[in-house]
Amino acid sequence: MGFLRLFTRTKPKLRVSSSKKDGFSGWIKCAKCSEMIHAKELGETLHCCPKCDHHYRYSVSQRIELFADGGEFEELFSGLKSSDPLGFVDTKAYKERLKEADKKGGKSDAIVTGLCKMGGEQTALGVMNFSFMGGSMGSVVGEKLTRLIELAIEKHLPLVVVSSSGGARMQESVLSLMQMAKTSAALARLGQAGLPFISVLAHPTTGGVTASFASLGDVNIAEPDALIGFAGPRVVEQTIGEKLPQAAQKSEFLLEKGMIDRVVHRKNLKKEIVFFIKFLVTKSNNVPESGGQEAKEKLDVMIEKSKQERQKNKVEVVNNT
Ligand SMILES: [Zn+2]
Repeated sequence: MGFLRLFTRTKPKLRVSSSKKDGFSGWIKCAKCSEMIHAKELGETLHCCPKCDHHYRYSVSQRIELFADGGEFEELFSGLKSSDPLGFVDTKAYKERLKEADKKGGKSDAIVTGLCKMGGEQTALGVMNFSFMGGSMGSVVGEKLTRLIELAIEKHLPLVVVSSSGGARMQESVLSLMQMAKTSAALARLGQAGLPFISVLAHPTTGGVTASFASLGDVNIAEPDALIGFAGPRVVEQTIGEKLPQAAQKSEFLLEKGMIDRVVHRKNLKKEIVFFIKFLVTKSNNVPESGGQEAKEKLDVMIEKSKQERQKNKVEVVNNT
């Protein structure tokens, strides 16, 4: 959660201005342009400021509603829970934190995974949940994502993942760092199977998530003005002893430097993803898999082996399903 602390300082704050005794009047002062906007307007603009286009945080259910054709989504692997193998306690026991996060951020840990159709194409979709412990990646996030990737390979589906994360979950120490290698290895197999991965980076995407799967898309698409980086700006400046350029860790800067392929307004996001899915799926269907049947068999063996190994090492997560 170290990274989480860094960006909570710059988190857009919705300042509520109330004219009624009972609280919320519906008027909000935009965190970016300071104009007054009405909550109703935000609802109509996909939570983007109608005056300056500032993209406010979007919830998992809103994302799924936006992406899935007809809002239809089949959630998978939702029964996975962290088993707290380290018995970690900081100011509070990790078990307690998880319980609180379950109540506050939903019961699916920091990622919701499943299947839906996008533009008529069956797609494996994962959406990170920032409300659950700052979208931090512990063993449950890594395992759910890996299972989703393996399902995508099995069913020959494209993969879309929306990231929004403070990085690796410190309470799981090295186990959470292992998820970087695990998800990256699974994505390599998806690539070998000739299936596309479209990575969407929302504000903020930092730490171990940026340093693993979020940056490994065949196409990496960011929302405008999103904070994307490994360590926060203050830590980088303290380490290198230099001031960072203005907005050095924002989508537009990273687009210019080639780390991001596209910066896309939320209202065009689905259209763009569907375009890439159709383009890349068609491509991968037309081109025979490299190495043909032999490579495919090798891949199947690798996936089976990795599944069995994870089954053996059940210390990481408890499967409640
Ligand atoms: Zn604004």
